[in-house]
Amino acid sequence: MRSTPQSRVRRRHERFVVEALLREDRQTRAELARSLDVSTVTVGKIVDDLMRQGVIEERDDAEAAPDGGASAGRPARPVGLQRRAPRVVAAELSRRWVRLAALPIGAGREAPWQASVPMSRSQPVLTRRLREAKRALGVDRPWAVAVSTPGVTDDAGGRVLFSPNLHWTEGFDLPAMFGSVWGAPVCVVQEIRAAALAHRLCAGVSEDFLLVDFGEGLGGAAVVDGRLYQGAVPLSAEIGHVVRPGNPRRCGCGARGCLETLASVRGVKRSYKEATGDARPTWGRMVKRVESHGIEPWLAETLEASGETIGGALNVLGLRHVAITGWPTRMPEAVGLALGHCLERSTLWARFGRVTWTLAPRRRVAGLLAAAIDRVVLAGDGCDV
Ligand SMILES: [Zn+2]
Repeated sequence: MRSTPQSRVRRRHERFVVEALLREDRQTRAELARSLDVSTVTVGKIVDDLMRQGVIEERDDAEAAPDGGASAGRPARPVGLQRRAPRVVAAELSRRWVRLAALPIGAGREAPWQASVPMSRSQPVLTRRLREAKRALGVDRPWAVAVSTPGVTDDAGGRVLFSPNLHWTEGFDLPAMFGSVWGAPVCVVQEIRAAALAHRLCAGVSEDFLLVDFGEGLGGAAVVDGRLYQGAVPLSAEIGHVVRPGNPRRCGCGARGCLETLASVRGVKRSYKEATGDARPTWGRMVKRVESHGIEPWLAETLEASGETIGGALNVLGLRHVAITGWPTRMPEAVGLALGHCLERSTLWARFGRVTWTLAPRRRVAGLLAAAIDRVVLAGDGCDV
């Protein structure tokens, strides 16, 4: 659709309303108008449009605010994002599984995965498994499919350009594969960017931040000026592939010494195994070890390296807030504190200003839902979440 100044303004207002309802369900038109600083008449028109599209619905709520929308001649009934029928299929590609969920627009920030199929290196095999899973999910014609992938992703083209941990996905045509199964537009979002998008929307974060996820890999995504930061190439904040001097481990990207080989789940398990000789390094045993022995060198060195690298990223990007997701949130509190202190020591802003960090839940489902709403449901002038 051709973009005009009017359509861009309207879309921006629609996004404001949808994002406000993602953060807090059940708001009256007057409440929305106050929080968005636009007139109740304007909000009323946007709400009517979004209701016609089936994006939002009225909440049957007897406790509506007495003044909610009354000045615009509207009922005071609050509205929320539509919950009646699944409209978006969210899919997450990982090393072993493709996780799936069929979600209404108003599924909320804690929406869970509903099904998973084993990952395959063959696109035809994976397509067949997705078709089988489609029946279980029970949504035939969704409005959109949102797919998250690790690695370096060309979100606009829907291609994985480079994936150190899932090399074979580089040949997949994800829009064609998911589109053939569900017959709907497909948007591809790099997984850490999906998590950052969810953090911005669901946690109500108004300041810019760097999100760092400690998972199968180690990735980052920055939100700058309220938007996901995108550089000249579709790759940014890739702190997992910063080389740490003296680290001999070989990385899936082909380099030697990347931080990811220390700070991913596999990396930290390997360090624990090498230091303790534990032949069965499960996560539970590692947590017990930290509880009984404190932060030993096998973990301290990884926290130090991670903190220094994150601090370097803050210095380069000009950010002072960090959201940490992944395994540090599943460790004793002292681990998160140690990581936070390391990154503060490495950030120039902390010498005279305040650097803050928070441990946050990983909300990829919510991030995918938000991306699908923005890129497909409210689409009009391109993908720019
Ligand atoms: Zn690497």
